[in-house]
Amino acid sequence: MIILKAQNVTKTYAGKEDANDVEVLKGVNIELESGSTHAIIGSSGSGKSTLLHILGGLDKPTSGEVIFRDHDIASYSDEQVTQFRNREIGFVFQFHHLLPEFTAIENVMMPALVQDLSTKEVEKRAEQLLAEFGLKDRVHHRPSMLSGGEQQRVSVARALINNPSLLLADEPSGNLDENNTSILIDLLLSLNKERELTIILVTHDPILAQKCTYVHTIKNGVID
Ligand code: ADP
Ligand code: MG
Repeated sequence: MIILKAQNVTKTYAGKEDANDVEVLKGVNIELESGSTHAIIGSSGSGKSTLLHILGGLDKPTSGEVIFRDHDIASYSDEQVTQFRNREIGFVFQFHHLLPEFTAIENVMMPALVQDLSTKEVEKRAEQLLAEFGLKDRVHHRPSMLSGGEQQRVSVARALINNPSLLLADEPSGNLDENNTSILIDLLLSLNKERELTIILVTHDPILAQKCTYVHTIKNGVID
């Protein structure tokens, strides 16, 4: 089953003042089978983040379609796409974006609390996820009390709290050392195996990319 399909996706940023427009994506086509893993590599500024944001409904293409199952999310209103994304898509970024004032478990729970779920249930699920990721004794720590690797695993737990079918990760190991990178990647791949989570991983690192079933290169506004 195809979970996500992009068709002739283009993205042009308007140039500031009299600068030329920047044509970042010039007709991207990609199809993801449910449960597959994909790496996207490409040089800095080639449009990896732009594409990932469009695939995940965080940004809209200039033209083209993004079909998630049967939904053309590129045509959704902002409110529709926000709701849809919250349920179906998890994001992990290079910088963990955890809220500093809240504990690990509170950060993880947050995306679920905007849904109409009981706080007790959400809390239980957040605890389970954190324990599964080796953070059982870090549940009530604030982000500043956690290592970089731990912070990033909390952000993966947060991405999964609503049980999404697709996980998008934008250079998630960009700030991690080798050991924490390998823990993170093994975690993502085990989530793929055990939950059939579909994953798109943007990375600079060719060794990481090779761990995914498909490796795509983005260059000159198109992807192979
Ligand atoms: P990558 O993630 O591969 O490094 P990006 O997708 O972040 O690349 O950026 C691709 C190109 O688009 C870059 O030239 C960047 O400067 C430009 N760009 C990204 N976001 C914007 C924006 N909001 N406005 C204008 N230009 C942008
Ligand atoms: Mg980027």
